[in-house]
Amino acid sequence: MAGASVDPRLPSWWLEDALAREGDPAPAAALAGDATADVAIVGGGYTGLWTALALRERSPELRITVLEAEICGHGPSGRNGGFVHGYWASLASVVAVLGEERALELAVAGERIIPGIRAWAESRREDVWLREAGMLEVSAAPAQDAGVEKGVAAAARLGRSDQAVPLTPEEVAQRVSSPVFRNGIFYPECATVHPGLLVRALRRAALDAGVTLHERTPVRGVRAGSPNELATPGGTLRAPEVVLATNAALTGWSPASRNLTNFGSYVVLTEPAPEALVEIGWTGGEAIVDGRMFLHYFRTTNDGRVLMGSGSGPIGLGGRIDDRFSRDVPTAARAEAGLRRLLPGLAGVRVERAWGGPIDVSADHLPFFRTKAGTRIHFGAGYSGHGVGPSWLGGQTLASLALGSDDEWTRLPLAARAVPRLPREPFRRVGGGLVRWAIMACEAAEEEGRRAPLAARAGAALPRLLGMELGTR
Ligand SMILES: Cc1cc2nc3c(=O)[nH]c(=O)nc-3n(C[C@H](O)[C@H](O)[C@H](O)COP(=O)(O)OP(=O)(O)OC[C@H]3O[C@@H](n4cnc5c(N)ncnc54)[C@H](O)[C@@H]3O)c2cc1C
Repeated sequence: MAGASVDPRLPSWWLEDALAREGDPAPAAALAGDATADVAIVGGGYTGLWTALALRERSPELRITVLEAEICGHGPSGRNGGFVHGYWASLASVVAVLGEERALELAVAGERIIPGIRAWAESRREDVWLREAGMLEVSAAPAQDAGVEKGVAAAARLGRSDQAVPLTPEEVAQRVSSPVFRNGIFYPECATVHPGLLVRALRRAALDAGVTLHERTPVRGVRAGSPNELATPGGTLRAPEVVLATNAALTGWSPASRNLTNFGSYVVLTEPAPEALVEIGWTGGEAIVDGRMFLHYFRTTNDGRVLMGSGSGPIGLGGRIDDRFSRDVPTAARAEAGLRRLLPGLAGVRVERAWGGPIDVSADHLPFFRTKAGTRIHFGAGYSGHGVGPSWLGGQTLASLALGSDDEWTRLPLAARAVPRLPREPFRRVGGGLVRWAIMACEAAEEEGRRAPLAARAGAALPRLLGMELGTR
């Protein structure tokens, strides 16, 4: 495999672009001295900011404070691919976890996400590049054909064939032409956004709504009590209700750590090339994924760029968020190799930027929202690479938990299911790393039309042999 044209680095192009449009503002003042709030939220990404806005709407008198270690949008909320969807596109695996009835309930709840984001952005006159053009899942190798059939069958079984429409190779080619694309599925329920504009618009909305925000304020210790205490370098924030919305960082925090692990995901972004997009017929704005387990995800932007992502980054150790999530050159190179293989019609288009971030993967690949037993500390994570849309549901749910409500949000399976446990470290890192290597080797071999080595086939079969519903192929 060829190397990457550019080394991965932060900030992402999205965040840089969004900050430049704001005139590169100074961060909000760090917490200096002790303070109090009714609700303290840790983490200024989508989850923390949607929670703050939902709380403000439902309970205007609350004093809400958000503490963010860096600046809002520094985390994956300012780095992601910008695919926004609920659960129709992953229905088959959601059914495997929840059963048909609860899966349907979740998928129907997820249908509220895109209209929710659209209505909010319109009410604020914010242009977050929301483009509601659906998503294609394409098979890019014979071994990926079965995944397409599975996705179509899952929706049909629940009487919702409208949410997973099968496409012949000719129908795929009408939307985007590539010599490696075979059949596919069109999922109408998907939009794309400019992730940086979205997270910064949420920050603006929170500030306009009177939420207190402290950036450059890492929380170093959380002590449960009445009130709870959050220790930061500049002072302590006390609040009776605390929401931890720190995403992958929760992997190192014991109430969540048995259910979560971190994987890296990386993207490359091309220069603007609108004419090349016209040549391959990809002008409809559809988001696209291939049928790999460590999938490629790709989309166009308003200025005619292509973003290609690869979810094949390194696995973390415990909760450590280190360079493996932002500087891993091999994963950026895999994303670029994906761009070249999947879209050879863009061969002359240059890659300008690359970056990565951690993905908080839960044991059943669904997020969970909880209150730590015996406390008023609420938390949510486990988006498993699909958090842009679901963090909207997360904000509603965490707001309900902080308000002590028993309602439509807290009754959703995201808040009301038992999440399976992962093996302890270092077995999680070692076992997960082995299976990851094996699956990647098998998927690469399949795309090249050869048989994977025996060791890779044996490693890839491990999850199935262990009776796991997910991570199997
Ligand atoms: C490369 C990449 C591509 C992705 N693509 C997609 C996609 O296309 N579609 C999709 O649905 N999902 C995608 N995701 C996942 C998605 O970005 C996340 O699920 C989502 O952004 C999670 O939002 P969040 O607010 O929970 O977390 P974050 O955005 O991580 O926000 C958490 C915040 O907490 C702060 N923080 C951490 N620790 C502390 C502390 N101790 N004190 C104070 N603050 C702290 C961090 O600085 C961060 O700003 C992608 C992720 C990556 C990395």
